[in-house]
Amino acid sequence: AGRVRLRGVRRVYRQGRAPVAAVDGVDLDIAPGRFTVLAGPSGSGKSTLLQLIGGLDRPDEGAVSLDGTRLDTLDDDTLTRLRGERIGFVFQSFNLVPVMSALENVELPLLQAGPSSTGSRERARSMLEAVGLQGLHRRRPGELSGGQQQRVAVARALVHRPRLVLADEPTANLDRASGQALIALMRTLQRGTGVTFVFSSHDPSLLDEADVRVQLLDGRLA
Ligand code: ADP
Ligand code: ADP
Repeated sequence: AGRVRLRGVRRVYRQGRAPVAAVDGVDLDIAPGRFTVLAGPSGSGKSTLLQLIGGLDRPDEGAVSLDGTRLDTLDDDTLTRLRGERIGFVFQSFNLVPVMSALENVELPLLQAGPSSTGSRERARSMLEAVGLQGLHRRRPGELSGGQQQRVAVARALVHRPRLVLADEPTANLDRASGQALIALMRTLQRGTGVTFVFSSHDPSLLDEADVRVQLLDGRLA
């Protein structure tokens, strides 16, 4: 599970003076269980493409499917539920809840499925251990370094055992060493879980760990 398929996908932004085709006729297949990097310079459409793959946005044209389910034609409620169950997201600015502890942040995706329980707490605790943050589970995001916050975000993205994890420039706000450590950690977790993992980066030095490289330029696959 975790098979991604895009056909003829196009997304045009119309807010500006002239329309911008941020994603312009993309056909893409991502096989289950691959660690894929979406590479390309700033403005090439990486964020937009990840938002389309993850059902956070809808294409103007074309089809997006996950394990044979068309996301682009689902109603909003069904799409929100499917996203919550099957997909994990990591963002460049971490997007943790500032008033919650690291442990509470990681537990959040499990609370969408049911109330907090011993089981959900233990699962969140073991994910924090898996990202090397045992001992820091009471800290709030503001009391953690950028690299530590992004590890919390990675734990949160994986805790509910999604089929697909999408990480949009996850190292953009980290220094080089923390960024490389984060990619290596994501790689290890991807291997351990077999989840389909797609991360984007404009930094050519971070592409080597990936099994598959998808190159974007001006909204098209290069
Ligand atoms: P990347 O992630 O590779 O930097 P983006 O997907 O963010 O690329 O952007 C692709 C293009 O779409 C850029 O020209 C950007 O300015 C434009 N764009 C992205 N989001 C919006 C938006 N919400 N409104 C208008 N233009 C946008
Ligand atoms: P990235 O670092 O991936 O290029 P950005 O920092 O360009 O992302 O964009 C951050 C957010 O702003 C995204 O949600 C994107 O859709 C939006 N955005 C990007 N470019 C524009 C734009 N020209 N006009 C409006 N929103 C934009």
